[in-house]
Amino acid sequence: MLIEMDHATKVYGQDPQNPVFGAKDVNLKINQGDFIALVGPSGSGKTTILNLLAGLISPNSGKIFFQGREIQNYNLQDRTAHRLNHMGFIFQDYQLLPVLTTWENVEFPLQLQKLSKDEIFTRVSWALDQVGLSDKHKRFPHELSGGQQQRVSIARAIASKPALILADEPTANLDSKTAQDIIELFKKLNKEFSLTFIFSTHDQRLINQVKRVLSVQDGQVFEKKDSL
Ligand code: ADP
Ligand code: MG
Repeated sequence: MLIEMDHATKVYGQDPQNPVFGAKDVNLKINQGDFIALVGPSGSGKTTILNLLAGLISPNSGKIFFQGREIQNYNLQDRTAHRLNHMGFIFQDYQLLPVLTTWENVEFPLQLQKLSKDEIFTRVSWALDQVGLSDKHKRFPHELSGGQQQRVSIARAIASKPALILADEPTANLDSKTAQDIIELFKKLNKEFSLTFIFSTHDQRLINQVKRVLSVQDGQVFEKKDSL
């Protein structure tokens, strides 16, 4: 078991009479190598659930286990180290640093991890090769298409060899062909490296290609489909 959410609830707002549930009594088991889509309307709780899984926010009640360890009570330092060492993040708006090249954007988190120069070089080369951008390593984000920028962010996410990739609406800013290519790339990485993916999406065509779909409604999570 990679991650388990055990009765995790996250409430926003100060008014106990009128709680806003980001996550409501969520029970979830995620195994290494899973490929999961989180689906639900805007405001249903997808981002909250991804943030809880990432350890970016803590639940008000319930527990979250990562490889058997409880993470919900980690302090800031533990949290930061946990994210850096175990997770890769992919966002709708890519979140690349505009003043850094493709190579440097992928290299940056590895430098924070204090890996050796040789190791960093090997990993950046590998990651850019995986996403098909080796020849664009000197480009800046503004010199790349949206799909290419998202590939840079995927390279950045996989370069640290994380246990888990969390992607919040990774294809929302892309045209449908490019969105399809990005999901194909996720699938390839999932298959070849048993890399675990959890991504949120609205795109029905992408949902149709995913083994495990979790439907999110008012902070609650329902298993929708467990096989193709
Ligand atoms: P989704 O990603 O599916 O759009 P979110 O997890 O962002 O859903 O939001 C779930 C619910 O929690 C919504 O009602 C949203 O307004 C509320 N919410 C999310 N983040 C906050 C926050 N930081 N403060 C207050 N309410 C929030
Ligand atoms: Mg969201």
